Amino acid sequence: MESTTKGFEALNLSEQICRAIRGEKYDSPTPIQHQAIPHLLEGRDLLGCAQTGTGKTAAFALPILQRLSEGRKNPGSKGPRALILTPTRELAAQISDSFRVYGKHLNLKQAVIYGGVSPKPQINSLRRGVDILIATPGRMIDLYQQRCFRLDQIEVFVLDEADRMLDMGFLPDIKKIYAMTPDIRQSMLFSATLPDDILRLTKHFLKDPVKVSVTPPASTVDRIDQRVLFVDRENKGALLESVLQNNDIYRALVFSRTKHGANRIVKNLGKAKIKADSIHGNKSQAARMEALKKFRSGKVRVLVATDIASRGLDVEGITHVINYELPNEADSYVHRVGRTARAGTSGVALSFCDAGEKSYLHNIERTIKRLVTVINDHPYHSESIASKPKRSSGSNGKFSGRRYSNSGAKPGKNQTRRKYFSAKPRKRSRGPRSAVSA
Ligand code: AMP
Repeated sequence: MESTTKGFEALNLSEQICRAIRGEKYDSPTPIQHQAIPHLLEGRDLLGCAQTGTGKTAAFALPILQRLSEGRKNPGSKGPRALILTPTRELAAQISDSFRVYGKHLNLKQAVIYGGVSPKPQINSLRRGVDILIATPGRMIDLYQQRCFRLDQIEVFVLDEADRMLDMGFLPDIKKIYAMTPDIRQSMLFSATLPDDILRLTKHFLKDPVKVSVTPPASTVDRIDQRVLFVDRENKGALLESVLQNNDIYRALVFSRTKHGANRIVKNLGKAKIKADSIHGNKSQAARMEALKKFRSGKVRVLVATDIASRGLDVEGITHVINYELPNEADSYVHRVGRTARAGTSGVALSFCDAGEKSYLHNIERTIKRLVTVINDHPYHSESIASKPKRSSGSNGKFSGRRYSNSGAKPGKNQTRRKYFSAKPRKRSRGPRSAVSA
């Protein structure tokens, strides 16, 4: 992970927080942390344009922990003082883990609430009193309406992955929740992209915010080697198998457009003796957690996911993101490929594009302002899809002059696999949740 040279000590964080960070072996703040933390410690509102993988959780968690520990009040029936809203269960669980790690010397109480599991343990933890509440909007409103907690003590309000929240239709819920919090509070909004509807939202939520951006809106991480294969729809299954035979693909996240499609891919890979599991909205929370656990531990090398289920996932060492189907929204592509090349490693994003998906690819390239390298000498490459209809090359300098990975000669099958799909390991600068490079 890219980080700045100044240490955390220079950010005026408390000794207990610095100690927890040292325990994580973070050498220095990442750019978003370096830019955001001083303003947040001053109590300013903040608009952060950053993807997961940039260290944005610590960027908001550390100042919140500092603020709550300085102005200590007993957690209790009065209700939480910090509220973090996030779109998915997995992300809520991850944020909660981060708060636990960074706040381990502080004795602050937290609860995490999300749907898809029994509410009882969540209600019990709320009853014990909390300082920090991390929640997905639906379950949060449910439990609030059941009077499991109050919101009138909220001092800090965080909207994480705001663009995703809007895509998932959470806007009415978010507005409802926001209206229930007191007027005097510090608000933060983080989003990977800043389309117009997010900018409108920030006007509603933030007062004179500091703006911090660590990647330009909708840009893809430079380290990701992005490639596309034009392939007939009916060959996608065989192509995936052939790609996954390559052992350089250490940990692959495969995106399917539909839940049934994800199940089908897993089944077909199973027939080819390639261990895979899936994660999507039709699975119980327990099954999703189990699939993630196996993927994280390396028990399965391939996780097949739908967009919603994978949003914001922080799994280390994903060497390859494979778009079995291209998403029709360019922003989703940006999010998907951002699952690799995290924490300082490199990664490969490989997209299978059939005839019906060429317009999606075109939109994606316009959004990321570059052309995706075409692999045109793979045995499954379809020249007829590649060559028509002709795609405009756009006006941006980066956007012209498509790169091809064609070596001239057709390689043998194994050679083909190695040649196209290796993710070159990069030097890493940091410690604990170590990424594995291929
Ligand atoms: P996030 O963007 O919050 O999802 O963080 C992505 C990953 O970066 C997590 O695994 C964090 O543990 C890690 N991380 C956060 N801050 C730092 C830092 N200053 N140095 C190294 N790694 C970090």
